[in-house]
Amino acid sequence: MAGEIQPVRGINDVLPAEIGAWQHLETVTRELLASYGYEEIRVPLLERTELFKRAIGEHTDVVGKEMYTFTDRGGDSLTLRPEATAGIVRALISNGMLRGQRHKLWCLGPMFRHEAPQAGRYRQFWQVDVEAVGCPGPDVDAELIALSARLWQRLKLSGLTLEINSLGTPESRREYRARLVEYFGKHESQLDDDSRRRLGGNPLRILDSKNPAMQELLSGAPLLSEYLDDESREHFAALRRMLDGVGIAYQVNPRLVRGLDYYNRTVFEWITAAAAAQNAVCSGGRYDGLIAQLGGEATPAVGFAMGVERLVALLAAAGSVPLPLPPDVYVVVNGVRANAAALTLVERLRSERPRLRLELNLGGGNFKAQFRRADKSGARLALIIGDDELARGVLAMKPLREESGQSECPVESLAAGLDAALAGLRSG
Ligand code: ATP
Ligand code: MG
Repeated sequence: MAGEIQPVRGINDVLPAEIGAWQHLETVTRELLASYGYEEIRVPLLERTELFKRAIGEHTDVVGKEMYTFTDRGGDSLTLRPEATAGIVRALISNGMLRGQRHKLWCLGPMFRHEAPQAGRYRQFWQVDVEAVGCPGPDVDAELIALSARLWQRLKLSGLTLEINSLGTPESRREYRARLVEYFGKHESQLDDDSRRRLGGNPLRILDSKNPAMQELLSGAPLLSEYLDDESREHFAALRRMLDGVGIAYQVNPRLVRGLDYYNRTVFEWITAAAAAQNAVCSGGRYDGLIAQLGGEATPAVGFAMGVERLVALLAAAGSVPLPLPPDVYVVVNGVRANAAALTLVERLRSERPRLRLELNLGGGNFKAQFRRADKSGARLALIIGDDELARGVLAMKPLREESGQSECPVESLAAGLDAALAGLRSG
């Protein structure tokens, strides 16, 4: 026997037992985004490596050590997208969609990062990505946050808290960055390996370290808020006033920085208390410089991405996933003539009643075995196609969830007969 082929580590199947939560999340999200005027966009899984290097930044973890990059047969360096924003911006530019126009877009799909797989952290993971292009904010920043808060409410997810911060402008950040490098440089012996590596390329990201041994050092570090330019300060104050006005609770976390270089001003993150480690379920921010940086005309923009696996885990734990619907009718087939006629009859019925959930017994089996399957299916009614009945031009029906006898209806009026039988049952 040939050996079994192993799945790729950190790349998961979504099985039928889990799909209910995924579909529920997708349906609720789709409806909500449409009601706010967001349109779906589907961008490629593969892009030129250069796109991510330029958008996300060479010194980020994502570009530095997490990308799935390969050379294709034509010699081009391509990368499986580690996030969606860069691809969406590229699509807006490639399709000539900027030109002073505004776009409210969303995208759902898998992302790829070569990280250490663990609960809530995978190498292929799904994101819902939401982007508002063309508005400088802060009204659109506030509305995006309100949209995400409403999504948690519709999904019946509680216990999510919001952290916000302002990263200012690249100019104000440059000055802060210099102060930070100075501070960490003075305390270099207290830095862990990761942080020492970040000191040269991405010192802000050191603030993000979860290492307990580093927390004291971090709490003494200078704060970005002290270096904010006036306009960013006012932008952030206005955002806070809007969130207060709409009644969304938040915490200002002056150490909230994001792992991607393109952010400026508003950044935010929704955190769950349910997981100690992978606790960020939705993260985003403003990226006013990115579009110009990728060769488009300068256009302000803001967006966020939520991690579908992490949200699905919360949904499942909260038990707020609707159960799959069982069939309405299970079709039991008995006899040679009945077997020959069953598919035609059931297909006709599907044409006449497109919404009816019908499960036809396949692969034979005696009467008793078929009724066992019918019971197990959860159907409310069994439709019996039998030789004896067919000889008399009728079909039989038997309720499966309540004690009542068998009835019959003429083959010609099968659809109407089923309607009546189903309407007569308790749980309709
Ligand atoms: P983290 O701090 O958990 O690494 P991140 O800052 O890298 O997250 P983003 O790049 O902003 O995350 O992605 C947005 C969201 O996507 C995160 O909030 C998280 O819910 C989810 N996410 C990110 N990386 C992974 C992963 N490897 N596996 C599963 N979900 C992920
Ligand atoms: Mg990460």
